[in-house]
Amino acid sequence: MKRKYFGTNGIRGVVGERINPKFVSRMSSAIASYMLDKGTMAIGVDSRISSPTLKNSIIASFLANGIEVIDVGMVPTPLLQFAVPFLKADMGIMVTASHNPPEFNGMKIIDSDGIEIDIHKQIQIEQQYEKEEYQYVSWNENKKTAKMDVSTEYIEQIINLVDFEKIRKKNLTAVVDGGNGVGSLITPLLLRKLGVKVVSLNCQLDGNFPGRGVEPVPDKLSLMNSITTEIGADFSVAHDGDADRAIFGDNKGHIHFGDKSIALFEKWVLGQSDNKKFVTPISSSSIMVDIINEEGGEIFWTPVGCIYVSRKMIEKNCILGGEENGGLFYGPHQSVRDGMMAAALMAEILANSEKSLNELLSDFPHYYQRKNKLQCPENIKEDVMQYIILNAEEAEEIITIDGVKLLFSDGWTLIRPSGTEPIFRIFVEAKTAEKADVFMKNGLELVRNAIEKSIGKLQKPT
Ligand code: MG
Repeated sequence: MKRKYFGTNGIRGVVGERINPKFVSRMSSAIASYMLDKGTMAIGVDSRISSPTLKNSIIASFLANGIEVIDVGMVPTPLLQFAVPFLKADMGIMVTASHNPPEFNGMKIIDSDGIEIDIHKQIQIEQQYEKEEYQYVSWNENKKTAKMDVSTEYIEQIINLVDFEKIRKKNLTAVVDGGNGVGSLITPLLLRKLGVKVVSLNCQLDGNFPGRGVEPVPDKLSLMNSITTEIGADFSVAHDGDADRAIFGDNKGHIHFGDKSIALFEKWVLGQSDNKKFVTPISSSSIMVDIINEEGGEIFWTPVGCIYVSRKMIEKNCILGGEENGGLFYGPHQSVRDGMMAAALMAEILANSEKSLNELLSDFPHYYQRKNKLQCPENIKEDVMQYIILNAEEAEEIITIDGVKLLFSDGWTLIRPSGTEPIFRIFVEAKTAEKADVFMKNGLELVRNAIEKSIGKLQKPT
């Protein structure tokens, strides 16, 4: 069933348009009446200019619904996700628009286990929102807000999960680019507590995000890279606006977006543990499989989206999850992506290695990837997928967890319908650049044919 308000990660939009005090208040009442029969809600906000306004509106709505509120303040999303089970709250709301531009904001709804609510619950909340039947409590049953800071406990938990002594002895230096977001509040402090010398960049909270923008894309990280090489730092790390993701740069000032840094964590964590179960979305690189084969582990594929990875980790008792966008999920800490945990684990990996980060990452095989997209009307997307499945003759295996993934002996092609736009995304990977170009050419041709045939079928008189 299609959702109207929830996207891949909660509800988001431009403030003053969809996202305004009235909307978040009504949505909060819908959440309160669907999810909780009284109880407690924990709330956190990111550094956006509109966050305090929206927070006040959300809190008012929950109190009027008879629900206690714990305000954990301005925090990264993973810290709120830690706080919900830690404080035994029944749910959490993070006011954030993650990596979106400053004019955006939104709500991530966290379940009692610290993981974002699943699609089934999202649909129920939307139905409740549309019905607009709220039961505000009487005047003398309105609840109160308590303020609590759990950052010390959160940092302590991370420190207890890495080899503190080893990291301290290594005398590492790191550059942290907080991107003016809430990661700035935790990562420099955490790394310093671990004995890492930290040079902080864009770590002043500012809802205009004037430093390098909210999203840590490689071409916005050149200052972080040049500082790293200038001062001879061992690594650098950049967060998105709510710091659930971490993008790493090496000692030579090269950014490793996603797959390779996740592969490094996979190799380290699986190599140390008896639990060798790893979860990753269907779009991840074959490097993940190479490491699973090396370490004798087990891999579980999910649809694209962090909620699927988290839920699969719980279901299969996995130790680690990873996404190519820089999302790292470390089970012993919490089964959600956490940019601070990733930074601490990176320090641990480097403290245990004679090699530099550049050398460690160069050891991995290189795969060539290509991305493209094609316009496709919404109403034929299902037919297009069926056509692809029936006509991908050269594929050795077809996986349909999310879109259609065609596996070949020397690479793969993933064809996914967008959930929000009338397009198909085509994503390929191969061992050589030439082969990747061939896969993309074939993939585009296959999707074009499928669209043409599906439109033809639609126009045929019955
Ligand atoms: Mg984020």
